[in-house]
Amino acid sequence: MLEAKYYLFLNPYPKHAFSHCPKCNTRTKMRKYCLVIHIEPRHFISLNKTCRYCQYCNLIIIKKQDLEQVLYWICEQNSLNIIGNDYFVYGTMERKDWKKGQQNKFDSKQLMEHTYPFKDIWLFEVEPAGWVSNPNKDKKACSN
Ligand SMILES: [Zn+2]
Repeated sequence: MLEAKYYLFLNPYPKHAFSHCPKCNTRTKMRKYCLVIHIEPRHFISLNKTCRYCQYCNLIIIKKQDLEQVLYWICEQNSLNIIGNDYFVYGTMERKDWKKGQQNKFDSKQLMEHTYPFKDIWLFEVEPAGWVSNPNKDKKACSN
């Protein structure tokens, strides 16, 4: 197994693109990554996906909805009976290794050996969009 490289945020908000990093507020970049995903009970899938990336935090942001669509499609194409199972985004691969894996049909052990696991998975909460009442302001208005 390789050294952990990036942090991961699996973005569950379909309407939030995170064009800015939720941690440091820097503009995120679009970049393609080879992701390695484990699907229960014991299946590994590697795929190429465009994600958002913060170069200061080493944070990769993946839209959960998009990812699940790709996973669905791959499972369907390969007649894998694992659609809807629990999955885990395990890490990333170098592009050259990913290509090698596609050609030589890496087994899960070989795949693991070429994967950089994520350092950690971060969660961010988004404030609800729209009008947010300010309780202090309301109080002031009442006392006047
Ligand atoms: Zn950042």
